Amino acid sequence: MSLKGMLTASVIALATLALSAATALMLMTSFLHRTNVSMGASIEGIRLTEELEVDLLLHQRLSDQAPLPGSLAAYRLNQAERRLLAQLEVVHAQATSGLEAALLDDVERTLHAYLRARSPTPPLALPDLTEDADPTLSAALAAMERVVKYNVDEARTAEAEADRWDELANFLGIAMAVMLVVGVAALLIWLDRFAFRPAMGLSHAMRRFGAGSRRTRAAETGPTEVRDMARTFNEMAHSLARQRDSQLTFLAGIAHELRNPLSALKLSTALAAPGRGPPTPERMQRTLALVGRQVDRLDRMVGDLLDATRIEAGRLDLQFEERDARELVRAVVELYQSSEPGHVLRLFVPEDAVMVRCDPARMEQVLTNLVSNALKYSPSGSRVDVGVQSEGRDAVFAVTDQGIGISPEERRGLFAPFSRTGQARERAPGVGLGLSVTRRIVEAHGGHIEVDSEPGRGSTFRVRLALLPARPLPPEPRPEDGGVVH
Ligand code: ADP
Repeated sequence: MSLKGMLTASVIALATLALSAATALMLMTSFLHRTNVSMGASIEGIRLTEELEVDLLLHQRLSDQAPLPGSLAAYRLNQAERRLLAQLEVVHAQATSGLEAALLDDVERTLHAYLRARSPTPPLALPDLTEDADPTLSAALAAMERVVKYNVDEARTAEAEADRWDELANFLGIAMAVMLVVGVAALLIWLDRFAFRPAMGLSHAMRRFGAGSRRTRAAETGPTEVRDMARTFNEMAHSLARQRDSQLTFLAGIAHELRNPLSALKLSTALAAPGRGPPTPERMQRTLALVGRQVDRLDRMVGDLLDATRIEAGRLDLQFEERDARELVRAVVELYQSSEPGHVLRLFVPEDAVMVRCDPARMEQVLTNLVSNALKYSPSGSRVDVGVQSEGRDAVFAVTDQGIGISPEERRGLFAPFSRTGQARERAPGVGLGLSVTRRIVEAHGGHIEVDSEPGRGSTFRVRLALLPARPLPPEPRPEDGGVVH
């Protein structure tokens, strides 16, 4: 899983948890408020009904004294009756349910029955001071008791409900807290195991690699992002190791190739070793010829090396010009015709100009490399054909020999530095840098080099460059021998 996905999922889960907790809290608060209101109403109902009871008993006491009309006691009795009726109205007004209203109707009915029984004629006999002696009073008091009982029951129900909500709130609070703690702990453990440790492993691997342990690789584990980083690091480490290997191979190649000419030169200096007589003129000549050849070889090698390093450092400066490719080919053929008596060198060029945009000096270097290889790896007396022609949008340079050829397996790494075929080693000295430099020059021109070859029959190296639209050129002398130079 990705780090981003995991963190997003965790944040969403925690936010949902917090949101549910807040919603549950709000709901429970409103339920609790409702039970609170209902309990308050019940208590108020009890209080008002008991006040009504007290007022009734007060009225009964005053009424039992049988006051004379117009007396102060009669006035008090009248007041008590009014208060009783007013209180009855107040109690009625606060009824919260139909049942309570019905109970209060009963109270009203019994109370009026009581009041009717007490007036308008005063009692004839002396009053009986016990409640039981007045059934209307008992009935009113009993009706009031029923209202009180109803309210007590209502208050108890509300209390039980409040208790239930309280328990539920406690349970939900604990459950949410546990879920929160477990969720956060799981997230921390996951982050530690699957993100932090792999990230630390990657960081260690990078540090070890930086400290010189080139074989170090990071484990590709953990979330997608860390795995991607580890994979990128491993690829980079692998590529750096490969580059380092190829640099070492390059250096080993140089050392190896330097050794041969140096040993030959060392042997030559033995001629002048103290204690030896003066060398014969023939010996001297042979040795000087050998020294000359080795110095040439060293010179070529140093030139190739300089080019190779310049190319590797990306410092191959090309001076582009529009040139007729036929001129380049002709110049190279003429150069070798004068110095190479052993081969039949033939030039193939078309009548029309083959215009290309190139660095002429570098393109001559390319052709020189190919022609010198063709001469080097083919028997004396055989033909080497050099030519250029237009093919579609390309100018195609071709150098064909009838030499040792190259097998398909050997062709695969042919353009890598220091690559030499077994047969070529036996046949001629060389460094194996020429073709790699050639390919880089051709590619820097936006071109392409390819080889066709058959072991024992010969090879054809072809270089393709983009063709420029031909411009009319001054008429040229016709190519010698029908386009062929010997
Ligand atoms: P060098 O000629 O100094 O060895 P190059 O880079 O020019 O280096 O050539 C690399 C190798 O390619 C040669 O050693 C040889 O094995 C092979 N090669 C190049 N040109 C030819 C050719 N015309 N015929 C056969 N083999 C060739």
